[in-house]
Amino acid sequence: MDFELTPDQRAVRDLVRAFAREEVAPHATEADRTGQFPQGLLARLAELDLFALPFPPEYGGLGGDTISYALAIEELAWADASLALTYAAHCSLGAGYLHLFGSPEQKARWLTPAARGEALIAFALTEPGGGSDAAHPQTRAERRDEGWLLNGSKVFITNGAHAAATVIMAATRPGGGKGGVSAFLVPAGTPGFTVGPQYEKLGLRSSDTAPLALEDVLVGPEALVGEEGRGYEQALAVLDGGRIGIAALAVGIGQAALDRALAYARERTAFGQPLSRFQAIRFKLADMTTELELARLAYLKAAWLKDQGRPFRKEAAMAKLFASEAATRAANAAIQIHGGLGYTRDGVVERYWRDARLMEIGEGTSEILRLVIAREVGAAGATPPPDPGAGLRAGPGP
Ligand SMILES: Cc1cc2nc3c(=O)[nH]c(=O)nc-3n(C[C@H](O)[C@H](O)[C@H](O)COP(=O)(O)OP(=O)(O)OC[C@H]3O[C@@H](n4cnc5c(N)ncnc54)[C@H](O)[C@@H]3O)c2cc1C
Repeated sequence: MDFELTPDQRAVRDLVRAFAREEVAPHATEADRTGQFPQGLLARLAELDLFALPFPPEYGGLGGDTISYALAIEELAWADASLALTYAAHCSLGAGYLHLFGSPEQKARWLTPAARGEALIAFALTEPGGGSDAAHPQTRAERRDEGWLLNGSKVFITNGAHAAATVIMAATRPGGGKGGVSAFLVPAGTPGFTVGPQYEKLGLRSSDTAPLALEDVLVGPEALVGEEGRGYEQALAVLDGGRIGIAALAVGIGQAALDRALAYARERTAFGQPLSRFQAIRFKLADMTTELELARLAYLKAAWLKDQGRPFRKEAAMAKLFASEAATRAANAAIQIHGGLGYTRDGVVERYWRDARLMEIGEGTSEILRLVIAREVGAAGATPPPDPGAGLRAGPGP
């Protein structure tokens, strides 16, 4: 077992840390206030080759590993979770879907500009009728001589208004459940494909979250991503990877809350001494530190497993579940440590709480993740019980 980052991983983390602290953090409060989409910062991410990081060289990527990618997300989130979500949803979900399941033609057409940061790709699963039940979309795709005719609507789609194309999950065999779902890549501007107004969100206010409508949207056969009827399992695989990114994002938010709370506890005095002298405050800081470090280890382990080509569904779910809830707890504690100031916008830490809350909802709610984890350990009875020693055997090995 080796807990050291490689020189390449450290280089990515340090590069993104410097960029995030110097160029992103100073504007994050203002971006939260205005809700302005971070177009200029995305251009800087492209210049820094961060969009290329997780994609293969044949499509203009750097072929970086998942650990480096997740570290980059943590550093961005420390400064501005809206920017980190914009980046992560594109890389993990939209472009990530094409990376995993797109045809060579789809990759050449869309993944290459996506890896250059020239085209955002969104991923649309959630519908007005529900997001947790991915096997039963109401959006329909019917076969036509020319290709497919799509009808339906999607809600809460990250980058929905700015995406050059969106991966749309639709039922190709209504009532077919898991085997009746397929994915389609629909370019922006396709007749009948429209974007609704931005949601007024609690947090992540400068990220783009929009509803989408599909009314008789006709796409060619080349729009189908992967095999017909395999969309459900594809989406689950995409979300497995995405959860590592959301866990890292949550750790970044939580770490920012901790750093601010620690600085404030050292400088603010009450009863003639710094807050940090009080055991009640120290215990909060100790708990935040412990939980965030464990959350970081959890996402790094999931990322490491993914990089080894080994199963990581359970580990990604556990990392996201624990990190998201730890981030909310850390942000909540940071508000408490800031006292009245923590409850105001001037205190900044309230933003961390508002941003952290989404991490418990997007890409699998905490409830759904607990179901995933329980199923993975055989608690649902659907899979054979795992080797009881498996959890104790740490480190590499078959
Ligand atoms: C800012 C933001 C960005 C988003 N980005 C995207 C995106 O890019 N693409 C996309 O497709 N979606 C996106 N979403 C949607 C998000 O993934 C869904 O909101 C989430 O999956 C939950 O779906 P839902 O809102 O329909 O809740 P529901 O599925 O209706 O669930 C409501 C509640 O019931 C619980 N619940 C549901 N089923 C069960 C069960 N079987 N057992 C126990 N509890 C259950 C849930 O955990 C939740 O607490 C985004 C949402 C937000 C707010």
